[in-house]
Amino acid sequence: MEEIQKKISQLSNELNEHNHLYYIEDAPVITDFKFDQILSELQDLEKQYPQFKDPNSPTQRVGGGVTKFFDTIEHRYPMYSLSNTYSKDELVQWETRIRKILGVDTEICYTCELKFDGASISLTYENGALVQALTRGDGVQGDAITTNVKTINSIPLKLKGNYPKFFEIRGEIILPWMGFHKMNEKRAELGEPLYSNPRNTASGSLKLQDSSLVAERPLICFFYALAADQLMIDSQFEALKKAREWGFKVPDSASLAHSIDEVFEFITEWDEKRKSLPYEIDGIVIKVNQLNQQNKLGFTAKAPRWAMAYKYQAQQASTVLLEVQYQVGRTGAITPVAILKPVLISGTIVKRASLHNQDQIEKLGLRIGDTVFVEKGGEIIPKIIGIDQDKRASFKEEISFISNCPECKYPLTREVGEVQHYCKNEIACPPQQIGKIQHFIGRKAMNIEGLGGETVSLLFHEGLLSNIADLYRLKKEKILPLERMAEKSVNNLFEGIGKSKNKPFSKVLFGLGIRYVGETVAKRLAKAFGSMNALMGATAEAMTETEEIGGRIAESVVKYFSKSSNIEVIKVLSSSGLQMEEAQNLNKPHSIFKGKKFVVSGVFEHYSREGIKSEIESFGGIIISSVSSKTNFLVAGDGTGPSKKTKAVDLRIPILNEKDFLNLKEQGI
Ligand code: AMP
Ligand code: ZN
Repeated sequence: MEEIQKKISQLSNELNEHNHLYYIEDAPVITDFKFDQILSELQDLEKQYPQFKDPNSPTQRVGGGVTKFFDTIEHRYPMYSLSNTYSKDELVQWETRIRKILGVDTEICYTCELKFDGASISLTYENGALVQALTRGDGVQGDAITTNVKTINSIPLKLKGNYPKFFEIRGEIILPWMGFHKMNEKRAELGEPLYSNPRNTASGSLKLQDSSLVAERPLICFFYALAADQLMIDSQFEALKKAREWGFKVPDSASLAHSIDEVFEFITEWDEKRKSLPYEIDGIVIKVNQLNQQNKLGFTAKAPRWAMAYKYQAQQASTVLLEVQYQVGRTGAITPVAILKPVLISGTIVKRASLHNQDQIEKLGLRIGDTVFVEKGGEIIPKIIGIDQDKRASFKEEISFISNCPECKYPLTREVGEVQHYCKNEIACPPQQIGKIQHFIGRKAMNIEGLGGETVSLLFHEGLLSNIADLYRLKKEKILPLERMAEKSVNNLFEGIGKSKNKPFSKVLFGLGIRYVGETVAKRLAKAFGSMNALMGATAEAMTETEEIGGRIAESVVKYFSKSSNIEVIKVLSSSGLQMEEAQNLNKPHSIFKGKKFVVSGVFEHYSREGIKSEIESFGGIIISSVSSKTNFLVAGDGTGPSKKTKAVDLRIPILNEKDFLNLKEQGI
């Protein structure tokens, strides 16, 4: 037993160290593959011997814990906000005020730090282990989001070096641009409304109930302040250095300035450099460096006197809100868009701004004819940040959110807990119909060359195309007479449509545009069920046995197949010759495991866990996550949980070790 406990702690230390090298130092020394192998070894041991599991084990990174209600807890040290300014004159005035308290001739040094634009957080460490994470809340009390925070790789769960026994540290959780764009690409693929900016997405992520969803988001955390009763540290700059030594991610952009002029230099330098940072900053934070000077200066009711945020001017302008239009997306999601009197902001003419949803309009209190402030930050679409109250007349028309679809007049619905309105008239709402066809012909689905989004729209309005099945019923003689449709382009179009019949089943499935079924989910489902018919006949429960398929996805698929209009479309696609089965299913020599269901557990000598799974899948087998009467084989590596084995024995399911598996592969079933 002691051996096992030792092994668990050795694996944990190893993983913590590699995590640090990867996420903090940007200098990994092992491959991701090797890392995953050690991680799954630890996971299996912890499952088998839960009594030895550390609440701060590196396995917490993958999440899984669900928080239904976030407890509100008082901050031991209040989280103040920062006084801020946009003007250098005011910075000089600030210095004068400080000097009045500290003495006119006193030497004052400043740390200059970047002001990261995300969600602030306070972490408590006891004996080097993370014990609590709180949001800022109102500064006096915040919400405990510890489980979620543990999934963020750049936050150390265990510290290194010579740290104090008990302290708090403050940082900012941010979402770098690349991660933000990737998340939005996925949203676009699924036809969901896009996230508006990294800051909101980061802070929204922290309040997700399911921590494994947080784990999937590429969040990072930068640290900038320590708080404790006794720190044995003299200055802010030293605090940053210490935090770095203990394993926190502290960017080395922070710099010491010996005068306000040097502070200005830093500000000017970063006004340019910030444009090429991989994440957003909204200014610079200037802090009096010496802690004894900070103590003398103290706090106002809201903010420390010893710090000041200098904010960079976002590109802003004021203009008039002319009207609100409503766009209907492929999935029926309604997005309100502000139509503005054209105005020049940082070199481009802005005529529209996204309003996201009803709540956003109400929060701003918008009325038609209002003079609004428009900002063009890092976002793709400019946003309205407020209204000019001075120019508001009481008779101005309030905006009442539409109750019917602007395109098809169908009554809109907004489900409880959702912010978006939807038009559910999928089969007869033009933008949804066109959007679905455009999705189907898109690069990641059928990739039909020779047919662009514009042509789809044209054919739709000519009444030749109203759903994806119609693509396979198009007649050349009907298209040729249309404007812009020359013989050659029509031939290309038909050639493209013809080629789509060879596209694999998973792409057909993705192309259907079922809600929540993105590219990866489509591949998983295609592999697990093998054919459209099998999938159509499957229950939601059966689907959730597949890896990565949760209840929400399964329900959505079942709902899709329950509609007769969808079944009609699929029938036409099938009779037109599209692939309705996985290639492996057809490819006999490679389908030795065809349709057989495998549960894989434990660690293996020759394979990683993912490796053995994908091999099983490549031979036509199906990976499921738990042992049930429908399981055909349990492939059990070292450290497979006893409950899985017992269940397999009870149900008389063959248990294969690695060698048995290799034999089975050689000889077939
Ligand atoms: P504000 O929200 O404008 O009052 O600005 C205060 C917030 O700036 C703090 O609550 C922190 O979340 C955030 N912040 C970002 N970077 C820093 C930094 N380097 N030092 C202090 N606060 C920062
Ligand atoms: Zn509609």
